[in-house]
Amino acid sequence: MPLTLRQIRLNCDTARARMAQARAEHWAFGAFNLDDEATLKAVVLAAVAKKAPVLVEVSQGEVDDIGIDNVRDLVDNFKYTYGVEMYVNLDHSPSVEAAMAGIEAGFEFIHIDVSQANHDASDEDIVAATKAVVDYAQLTGAMVESEPHYFGGSSNVHTEGINYDEIKKTFSSPEGAHAFALATGIDTFAAAIGNLHGKYPVPKVLDLELLQQVRDAIDCNISLHGGSGTPGHYFRDAVKIGVTKVNINSDMRYAYRTTLEKILRDNPDEYSVAKLIGKAVVPAVQAVVESKLEDFNSAGRALDV
Ligand SMILES: [Zn+2]
Repeated sequence: MPLTLRQIRLNCDTARARMAQARAEHWAFGAFNLDDEATLKAVVLAAVAKKAPVLVEVSQGEVDDIGIDNVRDLVDNFKYTYGVEMYVNLDHSPSVEAAMAGIEAGFEFIHIDVSQANHDASDEDIVAATKAVVDYAQLTGAMVESEPHYFGGSSNVHTEGINYDEIKKTFSSPEGAHAFALATGIDTFAAAIGNLHGKYPVPKVLDLELLQQVRDAIDCNISLHGGSGTPGHYFRDAVKIGVTKVNINSDMRYAYRTTLEKILRDNPDEYSVAKLIGKAVVPAVQAVVESKLEDFNSAGRALDV
């Protein structure tokens, strides 16, 4: 059943209060990509097992594939069936219109990222689009996340190494973060401190000193995108510094695909692929999510739903 505006506002109020609580208590919401029902189930089972609050998120590709209202309904059905504290994030929303659709669908978290969709977007374009979404989000109280510049990488498995000299050029600066937060009124700043989208053959290295400087420069929440392939100790330190949202996608996709390939090879006569996914893929993705929830210090922190 569709949520009423009143229910949406209550959900957004709760999400906002919980982000503040996470910062005060030094833990972070894992924001896990929802590719399909199997990945959603894996996140839900991990949240139940760890008694952790979670975000699930969709990018425009999944919105187009699943349908924005279906995402909201699927999440709510799982939320109440399993009693999980769970919110929805619209990730890398490519336009103001797409972000508005997410707000109207009742998503508690909205990430607006026009420069990922259009690499030629000027600083003024990015600030104006972000501000427009911040203004529209007053309708429900949804929390708006953004950054002054798109992130490197892509949510896939990469064979090349990481060229940190290149990546460093796109790092956040404390001054830039402060100016952007002030100009846009965002709720959450997506920091670039060595995190980048995708899984690489080498572990990622985060600049925690820079993260602390960014933390000291702004009042709003801080998120980290591109959390896959990052040694867990970085997250344990990042939540102590005050990160309250970490996005995970590629590590889940890697577990999904490699497990599916193996179980298909092992069961050449089984044509119910869904059955094999339920039997092997969901537990494999769940294990990835559970280990992240431990790294984010969010285990045991869920509210009763
Ligand atoms: Zn991202």
